[in-house]
Amino acid sequence: MRAVVFEAPGRFVVADVPAPEPSAGHALVRVEASMVCATDRKILAGQFAGTRFPHIPGHEFAGTVLRLGPGTQGPPTGTRVGVEVHVGCGVCDRCREGLYTLCMNYGRTETGHAHVGFTIAGGLAELASVPVAALHPLPASVSTADGAWTDNLGVALWALERGRLRPGESVVVIGPGAIGLCAAQLARAGGAASVTIVGRGERLARAARFGDAVVDEADAGRLAGSADLVVEFAGTADAARLAISTARRGGRVVLGGATGQGVELSGVDLSTIVRGHLDILGSVANPMGVSGRALELLARGGIDVAGLTTHHFPLDRFAEAWATFIERRDGAIRVMLTP
Ligand SMILES: [Zn+2]
Ligand SMILES: [Zn+2]
Repeated sequence: MRAVVFEAPGRFVVADVPAPEPSAGHALVRVEASMVCATDRKILAGQFAGTRFPHIPGHEFAGTVLRLGPGTQGPPTGTRVGVEVHVGCGVCDRCREGLYTLCMNYGRTETGHAHVGFTIAGGLAELASVPVAALHPLPASVSTADGAWTDNLGVALWALERGRLRPGESVVVIGPGAIGLCAAQLARAGGAASVTIVGRGERLARAARFGDAVVDEADAGRLAGSADLVVEFAGTADAARLAISTARRGGRVVLGGATGQGVELSGVDLSTIVRGHLDILGSVANPMGVSGRALELLARGGIDVAGLTTHHFPLDRFAEAWATFIERRDGAIRVMLTP
């Protein structure tokens, strides 16, 4: 089969590789839509300890089940499925709480843990062997291409659930990238009275139709103390500071941007948090089956992920797709590859 192969840190090819055989607990999936994101950049750079090279990346994808591994219960052949990326061991304390995204056996595949596209081969390939626990059958009205957003939608919805969004509230989303714009749309679907998106540049210009208002980050000071709920998906200390200052007294702040280690938060007046009576919450990934709920919301209509898929390429043109995404050519938000 054809696959993108990260051969070594900083080096990739599209190559012919042996097709995977699904083991017990896995399904063989024919990949029909697969995207890249900023995390793939970190994987390629060798910044994920759990990734071993050579590695087939890809963790935002959907396709059709071809067959199940021996003795495996799962969606039957022909089922269209979206993939979420975290599979826990199922028995550690965090898994038992439903927080399998925080599995204490991360990276130990012998325990059943898998992080699809990170610690095991992913979906930038014609075929992928995926743990059935990671599969979500796609509702009939959700296209397979839109199904590639399964994981992203779950991440965005989880942040809103962390922030206890209530109907009628004012929400500010900081960071007009793919997940921020999913969060903005899901906040509307969840009954937010107003959704304001903060960012800059071409991405912010594209964001207007996904919220009620857009504000350039240079002008965002005027939102200070205004929002019931602030959701941050920019991943910088500046964005976190802005998020905290944007919440009203007694409001909630969810920090969900993909912050790597070593980013410190300074310059926040603690009285803003304590006397402001703020809930400040970290949010990572998509536990507790939230991606399945997100797909049900997607099926109802009113959430546009196709509009966030700014570019399409065949898999063999991965190099061009990668450059388009990394350089944010034409305001690229997500590029989709079709094996
Ligand atoms: Zn991703
Ligand atoms: Zn676990």
